[in-house]
Amino acid sequence: FHIPQPVNEPVLAYAPGSKERAALEAALKEARSKQVNIPMYIGSRTVETDKKIRLSPPHDHQHVLGYASEGDASHVTEAIEAALAARGAWAALPWSERAAIFLKAADLLSGPYRYKMNAATMLGQSKNAFQAEIDSACELIDFLRFNAAFYQEIMEEQPSSSPGVWNKMEYRPLEGFVFALTPFNFTAIAGNLPASAAMMGNVVVWKPSYTQIYSAQVIMEVFKAAGLPDGVINLIYVDGPTAGDIIFSHPDFAGIHFTGSTGVFQNIWKTIGTNIHKYKSYPRIVGETGGKDFVIAHKSADPKAVAVALVRGAFEFQGQKCSAASRAYIPASLWEDVKKFMLEDLATIKVGPTEDFSNFVNAVIDEKAFDKIDAYIQGAKGAEGVEIIAGGNTDKSKGYFIEPTVILTSDPLYKTMQEEIFGPVLTVYVYEDEKWEETLKLVDSTSPYALTGAIFSTDRYAINQATQALENAAGNFYVNDKPTGAVVGQQPFGGGRASGTNDKAGSKLNLLRWVNARTIKETF
Ligand code: GLU
Repeated sequence: FHIPQPVNEPVLAYAPGSKERAALEAALKEARSKQVNIPMYIGSRTVETDKKIRLSPPHDHQHVLGYASEGDASHVTEAIEAALAARGAWAALPWSERAAIFLKAADLLSGPYRYKMNAATMLGQSKNAFQAEIDSACELIDFLRFNAAFYQEIMEEQPSSSPGVWNKMEYRPLEGFVFALTPFNFTAIAGNLPASAAMMGNVVVWKPSYTQIYSAQVIMEVFKAAGLPDGVINLIYVDGPTAGDIIFSHPDFAGIHFTGSTGVFQNIWKTIGTNIHKYKSYPRIVGETGGKDFVIAHKSADPKAVAVALVRGAFEFQGQKCSAASRAYIPASLWEDVKKFMLEDLATIKVGPTEDFSNFVNAVIDEKAFDKIDAYIQGAKGAEGVEIIAGGNTDKSKGYFIEPTVILTSDPLYKTMQEEIFGPVLTVYVYEDEKWEETLKLVDSTSPYALTGAIFSTDRYAINQATQALENAAGNFYVNDKPTGAVVGQQPFGGGRASGTNDKAGSKLNLLRWVNARTIKETF
């Protein structure tokens, strides 16, 4: 038994008239035509309650896709108990048997579940067909396949032995349960956080964002269809404080796998600190949090390449990426060209519902997100030294639509240069060409985050200078490319500073956080 080196799942194009397009359209129609009733999954049970969470497409908030059963404190406790009851048998399974379940899940997503999964992401999270394909098909499949192959490499890495001495490393699961707290913005991340910890032999309590329940349920269906035993991953919909109170004070709490906001992660960290004496072991705290991702162009850059990167990096996925380009530093000598190309490109972009495949920008996730992003845009209107040069229109009457918006500021510390907005808003600061080195310092010091960033230049000295000066400013650093779209197995993803623990999703670094290694020395 040997897991072959995976190749990235090919991205389907959904061209008009193609078979895959027809299949996806049929899946969308089917999903829209009914209302689903989504239970929690605790141990061998599907659990329904009278308290319902209404699920609607963000781009059509009056339509009801279904209802999920909301749980309370008792369900959190039951989920932990179910996880701990499943732990012994799951941890005792040979590693390859666990990996096989997730490899099978990848095959199911690649084949029979692909369109249902993508339709759920398109409707539940308002992504267009191509974004859904990249996220809930390709990236999720890649996470599952590459992680299995990384697991194999980990198992093969053994310390050396000498005559009469036999040394061995055992990669045991953590002693307890892992809590996966997952975001709305990537179905792939929502699936990977519980799956990666579980594959390494852990049992998991999984609490997705309420705005991602609709596609989370399909992920769970796929894991079950692939043979995931009951209780290994328990999926609950319970509000954060209720779940946190029980989970973070439980003696068997062994770790958290998190993607979400910096504020929530810092609070979790504090809570874990306060409760540290209650746990059997120091919990693993693995989190990917916010970003305020930069693009800096040097005067030697190709202005068209910069413009394309800004438009794609800032506005794809409605800017709802931790990695989205959100602050740009453009030299004065290039600005007129960059602006012209950007505005030309933006003029071709359509905003609207996901069901129309020609819409590039869809709705942001919910009213709270809409209001927050809108406040930044309204605040920029009429602010001193600030100008909106593209977009600026917002409308939440039918769906939470925000036009791709470009803010130009003469103040490099204006708040939209510093704060994470998590929406389709890009702020540009134009610097004097000769202030290149000062601008590098500015990029490094303007925000507390360090997730992604990009440098555009055709000058190797400038590229090298930026790479050095910004060594801690981005966990994923791009040279002449947009700062988004990391591919599993190619660009391991994660950042430092306020952006997270930099345990690189889709890499051995991440998987090694989920094991309790034992070194065994035997002499004969
Ligand atoms: N991995 C994604 C990218 O490279 C971003 C993930 C996120 O937004 O959390 O664009």
